[in-house]
Amino acid sequence: MTMANRTRSFNNRVCEAPYLIFLGPPGSGKGTQAEKLHKNFRLVQLSTGNLFREHISKGTELGLRVKDILAKGELVPDDLTVAMVMDRLAKPDTIMGVVFDGFPRTRDQALALQYKLEEKGKCITAVIQFRISDEQIVERLSSRRMCPKDNSTYNLKSSPPKNDEKCDLCGAPLIIREDDQPEVVRHRLAIYRQQTEPLIEFYREQDMLVEVDASRGIEEITEQMDEWMPMFIYNAN
Ligand code: AMP
Repeated sequence: MTMANRTRSFNNRVCEAPYLIFLGPPGSGKGTQAEKLHKNFRLVQLSTGNLFREHISKGTELGLRVKDILAKGELVPDDLTVAMVMDRLAKPDTIMGVVFDGFPRTRDQALALQYKLEEKGKCITAVIQFRISDEQIVERLSSRRMCPKDNSTYNLKSSPPKNDEKCDLCGAPLIIREDDQPEVVRHRLAIYRQQTEPLIEFYREQDMLVEVDASRGIEEITEQMDEWMPMFIYNAN
């Protein structure tokens, strides 16, 4: 069995493994960076958006319940979201650490996560806030494309696929997410400001917050993450 990576959190607690939260509006690049942490550091990318989309494409009971909510850009109720996250956290691969991508999005989700982790003797290592302007988000999301099979994401301007609108990994034709239509994006941003942004203060007060300038290019942000990762993973001694 592999030993977990012990790690010290920003507010100085020793955690069993790195548990990082990526906090930021839609289109701020959380998913792209979380994919990289998964590839380079074997952290589980726990993207609630991807999990919901998987349920929808498999036609599960949860998928049927949340399909219209996602299409409208609304938030899925907290109880359903938290239960799905806890299911995923119960899988053994999470022992090496997790990057939460798009969760928590409300204060109640944040409290539930903290409570459940503490019950298991775990804690959040750090919360990384992705800062970016609304104009840049709308611009980025209009050129975002997604593979419907493996959820990998592309941007026609900044990280285009090698072959004209086809997935580099599996060759499937890329799609525009229904909720990336401009009207839905504006609604998602309004919900972010109202429900999710207050979490910045919530985590700042607990000394857990670190900010990244998400208006920069993908490679620059990855370099910054790579600089921070040893501190998140190996500093428990
Ligand atoms: P994302 O891929 O993170 O942009 O999420 C896509 C959609 O999934 C959101 O617009 C919500 O409808 C739903 N969703 C994802 N994460 C959450 C969450 N933590 N709480 C509630 N709804 C969520």
